[in-house]
Amino acid sequence: NFMNSEFRSRDYTKIVSPPITYIAGEEMTRYCMDLILTQCVNPFVEISKWEYFDCSCKNRDATDDQVLKDAVASGAKLGSIFKEPTVTPSATQVKQMGLKKALPSPNGAMRKGWNGITISRDTIHIPGIELGFKEPVLFDRHAVGGEYGAGWKAVGSGKLVTTFFPDDDTAPVIIEGRHLKDKNNVAVVYHNPLDNVPDLAHHFFSRCLEAKVVPYVVTKKTVFKWQESFWQIHKEIFDKDYKKKFLEAGLLEKTRGELQHLISDAATMQIVRWLDGGFGMVSHNYDGDMLTDEIAQIHRSPGFITSNLIGKSKSGNMIKEFEASHGTVADMWNAHLRGEETSFNPLGMLEALMGAMNHAAALQGGETLKVMTHYTSSLRNAIHNTFRYGEGTRDLSGPTGLTTEAFVSKVAKRLAR
Ligand code: NAD
Repeated sequence: NFMNSEFRSRDYTKIVSPPITYIAGEEMTRYCMDLILTQCVNPFVEISKWEYFDCSCKNRDATDDQVLKDAVASGAKLGSIFKEPTVTPSATQVKQMGLKKALPSPNGAMRKGWNGITISRDTIHIPGIELGFKEPVLFDRHAVGGEYGAGWKAVGSGKLVTTFFPDDDTAPVIIEGRHLKDKNNVAVVYHNPLDNVPDLAHHFFSRCLEAKVVPYVVTKKTVFKWQESFWQIHKEIFDKDYKKKFLEAGLLEKTRGELQHLISDAATMQIVRWLDGGFGMVSHNYDGDMLTDEIAQIHRSPGFITSNLIGKSKSGNMIKEFEASHGTVADMWNAHLRGEETSFNPLGMLEALMGAMNHAAALQGGETLKVMTHYTSSLRNAIHNTFRYGEGTRDLSGPTGLTTEAFVSKVAKRLAR
């Protein structure tokens, strides 16, 4: 792998990157990251302090998933993580790859292991190029709870009771009881943990203020009454700590001077209409999954959206994991394996890598931070210019766009100048 690759020596010293946790994945995105690391990172940056984990299905299977546990522990220790997209194998893939068992989603283990507060997904902009939204769109998706942590069983007709037994051994509370008349039912239990919602609110409002965008809280609380507290927590924190600052910045003119709540179905429509951008949304886990995919589609490509998991270590330090919003791009990988040309847009993954490198440097501070941000801004410029000079990938430039390999070498050439 790239960690062992040899590179021609240069007559200047490389920047020494502080340690980051590097989680490798699978398919097209892994292939393209190897090209990028070989051509755009290794010649300029010394990466021997990185802790590397191969979280491909094959290696997770071979290590009985110890590699995932080690990766999570490394991330909690170092606080700055880059992750390539990974495959959560379907039943067919389990057979095809000859795995011992169906492996669970690594993302779930990471969100839990790093006390995930939010997954921040923002539009990426290239100055001079119009993508979907003119101004930035920010999104914070609660990283835990809801449908993702649900327990369920398929059951016949009968009585269904959900009971809560408090840890302090006080009297049990019946949440709900009902009679199921159908012969076939699926019963589901889930909950929304609320302890870290204040952290989420602070994170969201400070980001909106810094980016100068209008904040909206999205829920379906009109019908899903249990979502009321998500809104209430945000509203209290906003009124107490942020309202004045947002008013001073002139960011509440469209919302009559108050924090506005949007019902999630209305939010899906507004996202299509508000193409000027300049807004932020915060929502529960599942709504955030849907709405951010809609945003990605409007903004031209999942390659133009970031995806950062923000968590907290036991000692209260921020853990930041940077990844792209898309998956392993299996369709292009299959085309590549058939010997066909592909045109993968690596910007989302590169923003993630630069984010992790900058964050690791920020944790160290001093000269390291200065040289690292210089390198990452040069890399960002090289990518933006490649897009600007009509040498982009096909999701932006159409059929004349460059192939995956040609795009990476163009960026590398610009960077070396
Ligand atoms: P995907 O995001 O990989 O691809 C969806 C579509 O968008 C494809 O047509 C793809 O070609 C296109 N696309 C995505 N990113 C692109 C880019 N940067 N440039 C150009 N085109 C791009 O989703 P999928 O096909 O549903 O999933 C493939 C695999 O990825 C699955 O095995 C899934 O489990 C995994 N996945 C992983 C993650 C993660 O690790 N965070 C997230 C989603 C999916």
